[in-house]
Amino acid sequence: MKISVIGSGYVGSVTAACFAEVGHEVICVDIDKRKMDQINEGIPPIYEEGLGELLQKHAGKNLTATTDYESAIRKTDISFICVGTPSAEDGSIDLSIVRAATTSIGAVLAKKEGYHVVVVKSTVVPETTEKFVIPLLEESSGKIAGKDFGVAMNPEFLREGKAVYDFMNPDKIVIGAIDQKSGDLVSKLYETFKCGVTRTNPSTAEMIKYANNSLLATKISFANEIGNICKRLKINTYEVMEAVGKDSRISPKFLNSGVGFGGSCFPKDVKALIGKAKEIGYSPVLLESVIEVNEKQPILMTEILQRKIGNLEGKKVAVLGLAFKNETDDIRESRAIPVIAELLRLGAKVSAYDPMAIENMRRIFPTVEYFGKARDALQGTDACLVMTEWDEFKQLDSEFEAMKEKIVIDGRKVINSKKVDYEGLCW
Ligand code: NAD
Repeated sequence: MKISVIGSGYVGSVTAACFAEVGHEVICVDIDKRKMDQINEGIPPIYEEGLGELLQKHAGKNLTATTDYESAIRKTDISFICVGTPSAEDGSIDLSIVRAATTSIGAVLAKKEGYHVVVVKSTVVPETTEKFVIPLLEESSGKIAGKDFGVAMNPEFLREGKAVYDFMNPDKIVIGAIDQKSGDLVSKLYETFKCGVTRTNPSTAEMIKYANNSLLATKISFANEIGNICKRLKINTYEVMEAVGKDSRISPKFLNSGVGFGGSCFPKDVKALIGKAKEIGYSPVLLESVIEVNEKQPILMTEILQRKIGNLEGKKVAVLGLAFKNETDDIRESRAIPVIAELLRLGAKVSAYDPMAIENMRRIFPTVEYFGKARDALQGTDACLVMTEWDEFKQLDSEFEAMKEKIVIDGRKVINSKKVDYEGLCW
């Protein structure tokens, strides 16, 4: 099939490359010309394992990129909206980018002959496809959804860092369509995928994505709450949660306590669902607590540090790990951000290392000293805070000898070294 993918960020570029890999003809559309040039040259616009190989294989053949909506939509049968849906200032969803993309698609549909299906893949709160996207498409195209063109909602569940693998091997595919014809066309795209397809309506599909992410975020905040209680009782929370996870009704995943969840999805999606719930007159106390626990965890890191070494004024503190999780260069909502901000506020001098995310973090904290090796960031420091679960941090050992005081607060339970006095956030 011929597919346009609108937005070439973490989701769009992976969606485009993977659809190309399974044999479809794909055109990427983004307002960022640099990204389009990169894709046309087979260079990934973001770091994601396996993406480079797919782009090298398909760029210029069955995968091309353009900033021109018209040429892409005209040549394709189906368009996936994969643009960002950030938080507005009050935490509710900001649909301005979805609005811009939808209107641009609608303007081409106005002139295009033949049936075309518009699929919302961006994470949007329930009712967005039916009450926001469809009216906009109808207004900008002068055509009628369900008659002149199709509409569906197909949420994405991939994890950054494993995005290509997850896209190709999903646990589930959810398609919420306004009618049989739109849903059938989207289903056809996934014909070769092994997992089953859940067919439903757009609002249910939208809600499945929010319920999914909110439950995962809830598990993390729950584990952190238990961890914070355990720490005060001198109980090893990891031993506790390992046993809890053996209950087949629970599963051991997402039960590691630590410095909390970051990234472009969990914080914003839980907040967006809170915003939607309030808009319809419901007070989501559990979801609000999930966010509250998560926002307190990074501050606990600097509190433990102060208990150990006192006033941070003039102290040299290394921060290991800047990405919100391992295997990505993405720092959106990284827990390292509030921790570095607090260290700087308290007068500490911060040196930092991350295998991939330094350039992104430099834009937020230009005064932090960044190093290309963990050992160099640790040199002469009074303490170290570990913020990301990079595999290479598990091997750190002699590197800690470079520290002045060997005090490490591990926010992710990754350090194994016997050379330091390390303390966990929750144990
Ligand atoms: P992103 O910010 O990395 O990418 C968005 C892209 O859209 C950018 O390249 C941007 O230049 C482009 N863009 C902005 N305005 C545009 C316009 N008018 N027309 C065309 N392109 C435009 O975002 P992302 O992380 O890929 O997330 C996209 C959506 O997918 C969000 O709704 C997000 O919640 C959801 N999602 C993300 C993940 C994830 O792990 N990142 C996982 C599942 C779902």
